[in-house]
Amino acid sequence: METAPAHPPTQQLSARTILRRAVDPISLSTSARLRTLHDRLAEAYGAQHWWPAQTPFEVILGAYLTQNTAWKSVERSLHNLQEAGALSVEGLRSLSLDTLQELIRPSGFQTRKAPALKAFLKLLDAEFGGSLDEMAGAPSPLLRQKLLNLPGVGPETADAILLYAFRHPVPVADEYLRRIAERHRLLTPPPGRNRAGYDALVLLTGQAFGADPVEVRAQLFNEFHALTVAVGKAHCGKIARCEGCPLESDRRQWGDPAQ
Ligand code: SF4
Repeated sequence: METAPAHPPTQQLSARTILRRAVDPISLSTSARLRTLHDRLAEAYGAQHWWPAQTPFEVILGAYLTQNTAWKSVERSLHNLQEAGALSVEGLRSLSLDTLQELIRPSGFQTRKAPALKAFLKLLDAEFGGSLDEMAGAPSPLLRQKLLNLPGVGPETADAILLYAFRHPVPVADEYLRRIAERHRLLTPPPGRNRAGYDALVLLTGQAFGADPVEVRAQLFNEFHALTVAVGKAHCGKIARCEGCPLESDRRQWGDPAQ
């Protein structure tokens, strides 16, 4: 008995579908497109000068505090910590857990974030002699794993600390990049809001800048993440406002109008 083919015969597919299939997986052309999107954003918005902090330790505090919170609230918590003289490793170490919770209350989830910050200090003291410079000198994969083992640290927080506090050449992904990847059909299947989705976005970003010299890659990842946040805030929120967006032409050519 004749059985139906598992896939429609190629000759029945439109040229457009065949072209799409050719770029659907993570591939050189998809990552090259993402690199081009970076260039368009850089041209439109200019240098972003991230992270908004004075010291690496402030970056680390901000990376913890910004989870599930708007940056304005983080600024209020950082201000409280500054007033208490706790914007340093020594200052934070001297605070009781209760006091720390009170100071970071503006950014929410203080009963989770305060113990998480104390756990970071414990790791710093136990394995790096209390020195952020020692910690920064650890190899990226090792340090990433140590950070991921801590309470309250997911991949986005770990990568933000590696990139923005310690200047390791590590990409950071977030919801804004996930939306761009989905709406521009950069990944198939579209990246989910889960670990697999995060890993796929980071892999694609790494490939997009893979041809750039390694010594400038940390700066490129830094700018790229900041630029995706900029376009996300200006245009690519829960509802896409594509008109006038620097990435509009790419979406018209490749994107999914239904997303
Ligand atoms: S607003 Fe539209 S064109 Fe701009 S990044 Fe989002 S989906 Fe792309």
